[in-house]
Amino acid sequence: MRLTAPGAPLELAEVVLAAPREHEVLLGVEACGVCRTDLHVRDGELPGIHCPLTPGHEVVARVLAAGRAVEGFKAGDRVGVPWLGHTCGECAYCRRGEENLCVAARFTGYTLDGGYAERMLADARYCLPLPEGPAAELAPLLCAGLIGYRAYRAAGDGASLGLYGFGAAAHLLAQVARHEGRRVFAFTRPGDLAAQRFARELGAVWAAGSDEAPPEPLDAAILFAPVGALIPAALGAVRPGGRVVCAGIHMSDVPAFPYRLLWGERSIASVANLTRRDGREFLALAARLKLRARVERFALSDAERALERLRSGALAGAAVLEMPAAASVAGGPARP
Ligand SMILES: [Zn+2]
Ligand SMILES: [Zn+2]
Repeated sequence: MRLTAPGAPLELAEVVLAAPREHEVLLGVEACGVCRTDLHVRDGELPGIHCPLTPGHEVVARVLAAGRAVEGFKAGDRVGVPWLGHTCGECAYCRRGEENLCVAARFTGYTLDGGYAERMLADARYCLPLPEGPAAELAPLLCAGLIGYRAYRAAGDGASLGLYGFGAAAHLLAQVARHEGRRVFAFTRPGDLAAQRFARELGAVWAAGSDEAPPEPLDAAILFAPVGALIPAALGAVRPGGRVVCAGIHMSDVPAFPYRLLWGERSIASVANLTRRDGREFLALAARLKLRARVERFALSDAERALERLRSGALAGAAVLEMPAAASVAGGPARP
């Protein structure tokens, strides 16, 4: 499914892929999660989008062929392709272990073709090993889970945590938080009772609209909803010394707010991208906790409908595109 111009609907197209270069693997895609970032890409809200482009950065796939310098993966292995697709290895950020901030980083489904496809090429050095199990349920771990977990760590280890926007990322993190004995307070769109019920099912001790105040000041809050006005709201919900972490890549403008909301050593931070180390650590944790994503499945050609469901807030959990089984088998998708 290709984006031919920012803002235009994705279109099914056939693309001829080159043979994998030395560090690349040719992948047969099993499933690809639909992330809010894909919506920002599709809508042209991010800079530097070159069309045509295949979106998708929560890819569960099988290796079909490997370039001659690929180590660690062979044909038949299951791999995950996350958002971070390439780094330079030389800039100041790469050298200090902050490759998520690399000045020359490239990103799957944004500046590299991604997984809204039956086949794709990926740099094996940025792929992550994945266990067996239903591909669709693993896909959301690769961004919603992984970058969500980076935000979760950035929020500190307080006992109470607010989550603004109870979608793909929050529904995974609520499970992690519950496992760690932390109390989750879920904030949804005002009046979204279904999302509030979903949050309580997953262990939230309190769930209400984002226009409501929590019953007690929180230790920290994470913003998954791309709404700038939630920053002052979240600052008002955390205690002195509390932290507000913005997990999304794009947000509407933040309105002016009185300094007293920030006063008291409250802080605001953002989380950007991931490191490969984040990926390995989070996937090990997900396996230990037997994290399960609640998913709504769509055919590849239904990507636009999946994005619309995400945009309207109608999903409970995560949307995932599932490819026909033949796509991930050498020899290729059956042609009519
Ligand atoms: Zn994402
Ligand atoms: Zn770099």
